[in-house]
Amino acid sequence: MSAAKLEYIWLDGYKPTQSLRSKTKIEKDFSGKLEDCPMWSFDGSSTEQAPGGSSDCLLKPVYIITDPQRKNGYLVMCEVLNADGTPHESNGRAHIDDDDNDFWFGFEQEYFLWNPETNKPLGFPAGGYPAPQGPYYCSVGANNAYGRDIIEEHLDACLEAGLNVEGINAEVAAGQWEFQIFAKGAKEAGDQIWLGRYLLERIGEKYGVSINWHCKPLGALDWNGSGMHANFSNTLLRTAGSKEIFDKVCEAFRPVVKEHIEVYGADNHLRLTGKHETASIHDFSYGVSDRGASIRIPVVVPKWGWKGYLEDRRPNSAADPYKVAARIIKTVKSVQA
Ligand code: ADP
Ligand code: MN
Ligand code: MN
Ligand code: MN
Ligand code: MN
Repeated sequence: MSAAKLEYIWLDGYKPTQSLRSKTKIEKDFSGKLEDCPMWSFDGSSTEQAPGGSSDCLLKPVYIITDPQRKNGYLVMCEVLNADGTPHESNGRAHIDDDDNDFWFGFEQEYFLWNPETNKPLGFPAGGYPAPQGPYYCSVGANNAYGRDIIEEHLDACLEAGLNVEGINAEVAAGQWEFQIFAKGAKEAGDQIWLGRYLLERIGEKYGVSINWHCKPLGALDWNGSGMHANFSNTLLRTAGSKEIFDKVCEAFRPVVKEHIEVYGADNHLRLTGKHETASIHDFSYGVSDRGASIRIPVVVPKWGWKGYLEDRRPNSAADPYKVAARIIKTVKSVQA
């Protein structure tokens, strides 16, 4: 077999928001299997992950998919380790306590397609604004839907790569879109979201369109921000059969609001205002079917006899799904059923 192109992908050390980095490794006679991806290294002094004097950081392959857009290509998600093999402090994945994959996560990733020349979303005229919000959500037609070529190409690429995308939709603001990814196992859910983001960034390059992951890129104006709602369940929630258990799990989130907000993405106070289908960052609330709550109990949960999942609506579009999942798992596991 001809040489394979393995794109090793990792998260840099930028604060408060980490970005994707990647570089290509050529492997001859590659099997396509994760266990045949060697450890690798990179210059951590160029990514805010190490001082120049001892710059090497290690890349530990943790998840692999085929690269739908490159001949003989693979995308290899990696954890960053220190030179001594311990997890780097920027490595949120290493702190996910879900070795038996009992936690299922469905993330709803929102983002803006962004014109780097005008520094505005697609659909925004160079000077001024388009018509106010209302017609854009789940829209069709050139007056309201902007960038469909890009998001269709992204969807095809994700499906071809084997990412478990469950749907896509145009969002409430002009130029704003969403994709949903579900996985059984918190680590895999995080891996898949990061790989979905990677593919979107790379497809954007072709169109000269950047992806704006900021949670409130249009500031305080009357335009929705971007979230990354985290839908989650474990055996306890999936088999509960009682409202009391759902209340107990939700209540466990109340005393740790600060700890959750810390990993729910930068600048979230700009987004969690109590308007635009959000709860205030200062409050904690939950309720059936309540899209103004911190945690929504989906309407199907009481219908199914109080079994199912919860939706934490607070994580934002720029949050690290590994850190979000790790924190949710910690809180849910603190509940003794
Ligand atoms: P909405 O926009 O109404 O909040 P979406 O349909 O965009 O809802 O997303 C709901 C997500 O919930 C889906 O991505 C799905 O994967 C996820 N989900 C459904 N059931 C479960 C479950 N048992 N555990 C975790 N996530 C779930
Ligand atoms: Mn070099
Ligand atoms: Mn959604
Ligand atoms: Mn949405
Ligand atoms: Mn949602």
